[in-house]
Amino acid sequence: MNIENIEVFPWNESFNTGLIEIDDQHKKLVELLNQLSSHLAYHFKLSSLDDVFNELTAYAEHHFKTEEAIWQKYFIDDDWYNIHKETHASFINDVLAIKANKNDVSQNEVFEKIILFLSHWLAFHIIGSDKSMAKVVLAMQQGRSLPDAKKIAKEDFDDAIKALINSVLGMYQNISEKTLALLREISERKKVEQALLISEKKFRTLYDSTSDAVMLLDDKGFFDCNAATLKIFDCANSEEFYTKHPADLSPDKQPCGMDSRILANQNIAIAKDKGSLLFEWIFKRVSTGEIFFAEVLLNSMELNEKLVIQASVRDITKRKEMELQLQKLANTDPLTQLFNRRIFLEKLDEEIAKVKRLPNYAVVLLMLDLDFFKRINDTYDHATGDEMLKAFAEIARNNSRSIDVPARLGGEEFAILLIGANKNDALVIAERLRKKVAEIVIKHKLGLVKTTVSIGAACILADDNAKAVLHRADTALYEAKNKGRNQTCWFVADVH
Ligand code: GH3
Ligand code: MG
Ligand code: MG
Repeated sequence: MNIENIEVFPWNESFNTGLIEIDDQHKKLVELLNQLSSHLAYHFKLSSLDDVFNELTAYAEHHFKTEEAIWQKYFIDDDWYNIHKETHASFINDVLAIKANKNDVSQNEVFEKIILFLSHWLAFHIIGSDKSMAKVVLAMQQGRSLPDAKKIAKEDFDDAIKALINSVLGMYQNISEKTLALLREISERKKVEQALLISEKKFRTLYDSTSDAVMLLDDKGFFDCNAATLKIFDCANSEEFYTKHPADLSPDKQPCGMDSRILANQNIAIAKDKGSLLFEWIFKRVSTGEIFFAEVLLNSMELNEKLVIQASVRDITKRKEMELQLQKLANTDPLTQLFNRRIFLEKLDEEIAKVKRLPNYAVVLLMLDLDFFKRINDTYDHATGDEMLKAFAEIARNNSRSIDVPARLGGEEFAILLIGANKNDALVIAERLRKKVAEIVIKHKLGLVKTTVSIGAACILADDNAKAVLHRADTALYEAKNKGRNQTCWFVADVH
């Protein structure tokens, strides 16, 4: 990771609305937001800050015009259009207000303000509003009426999109906090470097008092380190530490798949060439071999007329764990902890690509829908309905292998991708699932609550796409419902 390349708002494929013209312009807007954030964050080129604000508002105006022209064509005399247009106008006003107040507060405060405003805008406007409007347009392009298309968009956007918005907000907060912390950190480290030039003694104090591991190395290896180094690397004494190459302190390979020794030498060469390099790295502790995630800053500097590298290492394992947790949150349905619709569709596309590429690769899609589920909510209560959904998810999870992909698509509709399964395997699994579901019993004060499930199955074909295979499995599910429910139907035209 290079400091110039930090993106405060990385573009995420889930922001795509499906309308190419709009998506391209959204990407450009997000790029401008990143530029603005970098200007504010790096505290440089302050004179050109106004230019960036101006470019952002001018481009936003241009984009909103294009977007409104599209919406206007489809949302004739409709409230959605008018409300959406108003939010465009307030976007421009909010950016202008932040610009007008920028001299009254500190740079960091302006930066934090703009991050908060923009992450909410991205989450609610692009993901929340633009995506559902685009959904309406796409449905109308396929011949639906406006009220019908709105109904489809509303249904599709319910739970999955709320979860996505929340996780996007969470992730951005995390990213922006990280960026700010990093920038403060860099200026602290710059001060350390200056102190080295001013006075060796003063430097020594800073060097030993920082909680980061700081070490110096030349062509022969490490020749100095502070107290925190021995602590973080769990190494008995500095003499032992000086015998190690950075690769001896790392697992054989880094997450990118590259050999640690080759990559470490490459990074040192880049730092020597460019002056500094910031990147993430996986180390292992000397005495226990325990793995930890770190952020490393390499600075090349002159010491006693020799070029040396100063490396600062910060343990970021906790932050990494939090990131993984956030990622999990974005990919799972909050009620059942199964994959959500968004990640399921991504995985379905991946599996279709594999079926196309690999001659003997087989995947079956099961669509599962609980029978008369509405009655459970109506007869007992919503909480009992939820409990049933969780019990069902548990069965779906326990009866899939780790390579399979069980997901909640929404409401009481589920899907499972059975990897490597042919028609016979799939039918055996589906029947087992169906029987287990019929065995679920939930105790309620009005009586024992039971349910059944209908299953539609179809295999992924070599010339498939997601829409087609979902449609086939849905058709089979519809047939299972029609034939009286609590059964599995295979899509009739499929032979496998
Ligand atoms: P069918 O056999 O034809 O599938 O009938 P059904 O009643 O299962 O199907 P329908 O689609 O008519 O009803 C689904 C119900 O699921 C309606 C909705 O209230 C309920 N539902 C959707 N999401 C949730 C949820 O998260 N929790 C609970 N408790 N109910 C939900
Ligand atoms: Mg149902
Ligand atoms: Mg249903």
